[in-house]
Amino acid sequence: MTDRFPEGRIALVTGATSGIGLAVAEALGAAGAHVHINGLGSSGQIAAALAAVRMAGAPSASHHVADLRDPDAIRAMMAAVGSVDVLVNNAGIQHTASLAEMPDERWDALIAINLSACFHTMKAALPGMAERGFGRVINIASVHGLVASVNKAPYVAAKHGLIGLTKVAALEMAAQGSRASGGVTVNCVCPGWVETPLIEPQIAARAVDGDRDAGIRALLAEKQPSLRMTLPAEIASLALWLCRREAHNLNGAALPVDGGWTAQ
Ligand code: NAD
Repeated sequence: MTDRFPEGRIALVTGATSGIGLAVAEALGAAGAHVHINGLGSSGQIAAALAAVRMAGAPSASHHVADLRDPDAIRAMMAAVGSVDVLVNNAGIQHTASLAEMPDERWDALIAINLSACFHTMKAALPGMAERGFGRVINIASVHGLVASVNKAPYVAAKHGLIGLTKVAALEMAAQGSRASGGVTVNCVCPGWVETPLIEPQIAARAVDGDRDAGIRALLAEKQPSLRMTLPAEIASLALWLCRREAHNLNGAALPVDGGWTAQ
């Protein structure tokens, strides 16, 4: 297949000032997409993320400050971006505590950022994708959208919800476009452990005497049979492939990248 999707298309990646989102934004930029990023961070961190996306090859890159806990801010961001061909809902937070000890405020924030924000961005972006006959929504869920772990009630609830939301949107979009236009697909990528700032507190909690490598080994041994971390760029490669024309019939899926975690 010689097509150059997503070259020249408009992409929006939420939570792209760090980790997986930044890697996805760089990969889309390297493939020639105009990249809009969103995410929190210092002005230096935001400038560095934009520079990385431009350096990767993006013909244009811009940042949108929207705090994804705020639906009005999301709507304003979507209006500012305009047409979106590739929407990557990636922003996410984590908080570990037993259900009985989970702060109410953390539940609300986790559901807002990890689930409700994805509804608001998709609601804004899908009609245009349907009209144009091409669109890709890639929701970065988690193995925790497929299975549970203790001490992660809001995270597991949000990620299971995101997979359900994805399936509904995939069905509603399934008949849009054509093989030639690329169609409109909505999928989840479900990573296991990926080495990013998000999981540092969980590594630190297992790092005996501050030995970070020991913390990583312990984390992997609990869940991920490969005993290897996934790199953000590896998740980005899959996201990029999902944007291609030949992926037009891969729709409504939840794709684990988890070293065998959910095969157990
Ligand atoms: P990260 O902490 O490196 O990045 C999170 C991004 O989300 C940052 O850009 C941050 O600014 C942004 N963000 C957080 N709160 C926000 C808000 N209120 N408004 C706007 N942006 C906000 O984390 P990561 O590991 O790259 O996580 C990315 C996604 O991958 C998340 O949805 C996470 O649940 C998922 N995930 C990560 C792992 C892992 O092991 N790292 C595993 C499975 C799933």
